[in-house]
Amino acid sequence: MQENSGALLPESAGHVELEIVKVAIAVPLSRSFDYLPCGSIKSHKPGCRVRVPFGRTQKVGVVIGTGPSTIDVAKLKAVIELLDDEPVLSAEILDLIHWASAYYHHPVGETFATALPIVLRKGADTNIERPCGYVLTEAGRSTLVVKRAPAQTALLNFLRESAVEVSAPECRLFDSRWSATMKPLLKKELVEKVWPQYNPNASTPVVTLNEEQRLASERLHTKLDDYYCALIDGITGSGKTEVYLDVARTVIQSGKQVLVLLPEIGLTPQLVARFRAALACHVEVLHSGLNDTERMLAWHAAADGSAHVLIGTRSAVFTPMPRLGFIVVDEEHDGSLKQQDGFRYQARDLALVRARKAKIPIVLGSATPSLESLNNAEKGLFDTLYLRQRAGGAKLPKMILVDSRGSEVEQGLSRRLLTMMHDVLARGEQVMVFINRRGYAPVLMCEACKSIADCNQCDAHMTVHSHSGRLRCHHCGAERAVPHVCGTCESKELIYVGVGTERLDEFLSEKFPDYKVLRIDRDSTRRKGELQKHLASAASGEAHILVGTQMLAKGHNFPLVTLVGVLDADRGLFGADFRAVEQMGQLILQVAGRAGRAEKPGVVLVQSRNPEHPLLELLLSRGYVDFARQLLDERKLANWPPYVHVALLRAEAVPKNAARQYLAEIKRLIRIYTDANPEVEVQLSVLGPAHAPMERLAGRYRSQLLLLAPVRKPLHHMLAWLRPALESHPMSRKIRWSLDVDPHDML
Ligand code: ADP
Ligand code: ZN
Ligand code: ZN
Repeated sequence: MQENSGALLPESAGHVELEIVKVAIAVPLSRSFDYLPCGSIKSHKPGCRVRVPFGRTQKVGVVIGTGPSTIDVAKLKAVIELLDDEPVLSAEILDLIHWASAYYHHPVGETFATALPIVLRKGADTNIERPCGYVLTEAGRSTLVVKRAPAQTALLNFLRESAVEVSAPECRLFDSRWSATMKPLLKKELVEKVWPQYNPNASTPVVTLNEEQRLASERLHTKLDDYYCALIDGITGSGKTEVYLDVARTVIQSGKQVLVLLPEIGLTPQLVARFRAALACHVEVLHSGLNDTERMLAWHAAADGSAHVLIGTRSAVFTPMPRLGFIVVDEEHDGSLKQQDGFRYQARDLALVRARKAKIPIVLGSATPSLESLNNAEKGLFDTLYLRQRAGGAKLPKMILVDSRGSEVEQGLSRRLLTMMHDVLARGEQVMVFINRRGYAPVLMCEACKSIADCNQCDAHMTVHSHSGRLRCHHCGAERAVPHVCGTCESKELIYVGVGTERLDEFLSEKFPDYKVLRIDRDSTRRKGELQKHLASAASGEAHILVGTQMLAKGHNFPLVTLVGVLDADRGLFGADFRAVEQMGQLILQVAGRAGRAEKPGVVLVQSRNPEHPLLELLLSRGYVDFARQLLDERKLANWPPYVHVALLRAEAVPKNAARQYLAEIKRLIRIYTDANPEVEVQLSVLGPAHAPMERLAGRYRSQLLLLAPVRKPLHHMLAWLRPALESHPMSRKIRWSLDVDPHDML
């Protein structure tokens, strides 16, 4: 193993010109490694996996090229085994990975590791059995309940809802322990396995597109032969998905494949079923809940070209698809398309790069587009297609802003909201109350000395969880029992301050004893299958009042909800992050989008302690476009993205000032570099080191260095120089550090 850089040694020094293999190995170093081939050099094609000696162990790596050795071959070790006859990664994906590694300044070996399913990363054989689907048998169709087996009953009913066979990854979306549940159903012959034949040519549109949808689809249909990007700016419920389906049908019928990327929370079994039913095609799903085998099977079906559609969360962007013809990124504004640790990439942006390289069309869809995308559209880089009406005749909800500072507020709910709830419930309709804070109360305070229970590991208060009787830190996960006396003065007068979902649930259950309150948040859906159960109960109307966090905000369709209350809407107005206000606006509108999805019109009541705040007023009175326009103007004035390019160097360490000292040292290094490169110096600003908005997290002190430039190039050049310097710096070993290009937040 030797570094692939270094001087070319003259042959006279006794070195024979020999071709070597360059291998990407998943280690945190920005370089590849050279090996002697195992057998003919020609069989080491880029994209094939090899097993190689590495230090005292062996590793599986990916061949990224071959070439003349630049170092003493006597020091090189040889590839132990060539694992593939043909590349597992196509030339297109190799290119994308190299691009991503260079753009995000992330070690190439680790970038490869993100792109490959873990089973392949470990060296597994790629010859695998074709996965089956599951359908109900005759007996299964007439069985409504499996006695004393609620999970089996639920899975049976899930299969019943689907007109076509359901794949393993979809079953896992529904029930994470599906395979244990499925076994007895197969044994009892209520379910059978099928290996379906698809006939996309027989698929016909299910709905008739309305005028706006038709125009959008027609426009896309004229752009199928080259790179083209459209932003579909369509309000919630406007039928964006039907437009994707209409275009996808044409693409698939022309023999090509479609890639659909979406945030984790947007991926539901219902959506997958909708694609399969509408297109009569082979749909594969990639999401984080899959086990390693399922992931590999889905990956393979896409990579060998048999799957027509791949629907997946962010890492699906790296899946080889030999006949890719169209990419959809739904909910393109959603922060979860950005990976926030390890290899920090933005899947939407990589999808754009992929589409451009493959010369195919891509659409980005959202009801609340990101400021980046709006700016790109404004610059003429994207086309914009508008869907301004709700499909199927539903009306947009009315938005009302309510001042919640007055005394007429009970547990965070204004009188006006409570009165409207009474009316709506009496009419047999549903109410949704949204608060972005789980637990019982965000603060436990001592009345006597006013001290607050804090996390010992973080600069944060502990949240009271009354069901479990525990205090929990929502940042590091630390927990302890709720104390009976104050830790400072031993007084027993401890009070709960503020409202979380648990408290709201308790209060509303007392206030409206005749109605069923259902809480949907991370705590109430922790157990397997609970989320699906709760969502079903919400959708059926069995529950009347839905209380929840942003889990409730996205994607789901609750046709009976006609009133939505948003309780802590204004928290984002004073958030520590540059994206806080944008995200607040997106969240309010996504929640609002849950109201009045069916025939009945909806009302959204947004409570705020700052109702006169101009941005909030703008959002509610003029809508998202004007709000976003204003935010863009502010970002421009403040020199923030998308008007500048940003990279963030984060560092954390246990000793109090270690991270900050480290970053000060790195800043000094950068200055040496910029002194030597005046063309970079004039463009680049280096801000900090400053401590992170929450300085101490899980016992570590965190600092950051912000790197800004009005154009990308100088920043990029400096980072390309900085990354190896960081890797080899002696202080780097004692510090946890990471480089984040285009950070999603500064937290
Ligand atoms: P979005 O993706 O924009 O939120 P969907 O595509 O999910 O919207 O559409 C919302 C609802 O309206 C769905 O139930 C869908 O089946 C229905 N719908 C969409 N387009 C039409 C149409 N042209 N005619 C009738 N119903 C439609
Ligand atoms: Zn006290
Ligand atoms: Zn903590």
